[in-house]
Amino acid sequence: MSEEKPLNFLEEIIEEDIRKGKNDGRVLTRFPPEPNGYLHIGHAKSICLNFGLAQRYGGKTNLRFDDTNPITENVEYVESIKNDIKWLGFEWAEELYTSDYFDTLYGYAVLLIKKGLAYVDDSTPEEIAASKGTPTEAGVPTPYRNRSIEENLQLFTEMKAGKYPDGSKVLRAKIDLANPNMHLRDPLLYRIKHAHHHRTGDQWCIYPMYDFAHGQSDAIERITHSICTLEFVPHRALYDWLIEHIGIFPSKQYEFARLNMTYTVMSKRRLLQLVNEHHVEGWDDPRMPTLSGLRRRGYTPTSIRNFCERIGVAKRENVIDVGLLEFCIREDLNKTAWRRMAVLDPVKLIITNYPEGKEERLHGENNPEVEGGEGGREIPFSRELWIEQEDFMEDAPKKFFRLGPGLSVRLKHAYIITCDTFVKDETGKVTEIHCSYVPNSKSGEDTSGLKVKGTIHWVSIPHAKTAEVRLYDRLFRAENPMATTGDFKESINPDSLEVRDKVYIEPDLAQAEPGKGYQFIRKGYFTLDLRSTPEHLVFNRTVGLRDTWAKEALK
Ligand code: ATP
Ligand code: MG
Repeated sequence: MSEEKPLNFLEEIIEEDIRKGKNDGRVLTRFPPEPNGYLHIGHAKSICLNFGLAQRYGGKTNLRFDDTNPITENVEYVESIKNDIKWLGFEWAEELYTSDYFDTLYGYAVLLIKKGLAYVDDSTPEEIAASKGTPTEAGVPTPYRNRSIEENLQLFTEMKAGKYPDGSKVLRAKIDLANPNMHLRDPLLYRIKHAHHHRTGDQWCIYPMYDFAHGQSDAIERITHSICTLEFVPHRALYDWLIEHIGIFPSKQYEFARLNMTYTVMSKRRLLQLVNEHHVEGWDDPRMPTLSGLRRRGYTPTSIRNFCERIGVAKRENVIDVGLLEFCIREDLNKTAWRRMAVLDPVKLIITNYPEGKEERLHGENNPEVEGGEGGREIPFSRELWIEQEDFMEDAPKKFFRLGPGLSVRLKHAYIITCDTFVKDETGKVTEIHCSYVPNSKSGEDTSGLKVKGTIHWVSIPHAKTAEVRLYDRLFRAENPMATTGDFKESINPDSLEVRDKVYIEPDLAQAEPGKGYQFIRKGYFTLDLRSTPEHLVFNRTVGLRDTWAKEALK
């Protein structure tokens, strides 16, 4: 983080707290995912923020699984969340679970009942909703609001003991049915749910509501700054009310604008629909905005952290152009990706004056952006090469600096060649290009004195390996899929995946390492797919070399 950058509003709050000696200058944040899905890029913003603030002010961050909903949560999600946070480069102080506090939370509820501040309500959810009134009209008490403390204690104990069916009773705080803030109109604290929990098993059949569990867990852990998204602004009064009336550590809640991004959806519930209805291969499909999907696509932790840094934090909702995320990965890979050659759409080229059977080993540096090139690899060269079909035109226009009859180009890392003739099949498709090379024009030791405008990539035919290459585009056609009339899935882009099953790659790429980025020269950035095997190599395109969507927009 550069020092000149102005403080964001959360940094200002924390610095002020430290100056005043609040919490003895201690900073403890938490990241509180509900283990009901995989983390997405929006969570990355929250992670970078919570862990980043703590790091900056010498504090710590807890990882707390907010596991109060037994129906939707499971261990697979817990493991993936831990894995994703570590991958992003952060370490939590403690791994905690709201379910570990169930006994304590129950005790707090009993305390509120004893203080006359909570009651058991037998009304149906519809009756409760109707009795709450509207923002302009006060609510009315249900017939159960004035139950005695003794009766409430007995009923709540029986709720816990499993005497009542799901939905038959709830525990509510007794606050103020006329409060303009609807969240203070006797909010629910506990509900009955006879369901197996992934950690507590069948021990509980009542579960605390988010509002009752969250702030209390913060207080139990002595969290100093509990940072959440703007939807929780109206919950803050309840957060403070509960802490005050239970009489526990005064954690404070602060809200920031969640990340919204164009051409994607960002809620676990909707991402789960895409998975369950097989619109994508799984949570880690490279088109998903999940961290596991982005990782499989070839995004680096650095690029995601840089993205979160760039978007900053604000108190007003906005939508970030996905082009900024793509810019961040391009910027990182330009510095780190090793350069290689691959021909995605091949046509055969024969160098007629290059001796048959001759082979050369040419040198290509790994990364020209780094001094010394990070070493290099040997590239086999021979008489017959694959080049891209699009690098040849029969009737080339004037500014076409590639191949066509009579035109010359340089073969990357190799020689200058001139096209003499070509062969077409009966459909008119070019099947062979015949060229001659200039023997003293070899890259690095060129004495030919010739100048050519274009350089093209190639792969030697007898040495080439084959691979499957997956070219991805945006998963949705609409900038805001949620604005689609009807179902958001109607704006799914039917062309978001293009598979090229026979791509020729230079042999060195058979040793490609998972998790490493490669620039296929002139074609974009690629990475080995998670499920690639030595027998069947698969590469995913992370991103193109340029922002083709920005160009579209200019047309
Ligand atoms: P979703 O709606 O995708 O399920 P959520 O808010 O329910 O998201 P949680 O697991 O409860 O997901 O979130 C964990 C933390 O991540 C919370 O503090 C939440 O505020 C934060 N978070 C979730 N989505 C975003 C987002 N788009 N931008 C920033 N922070 C987010
Ligand atoms: Mg949630």
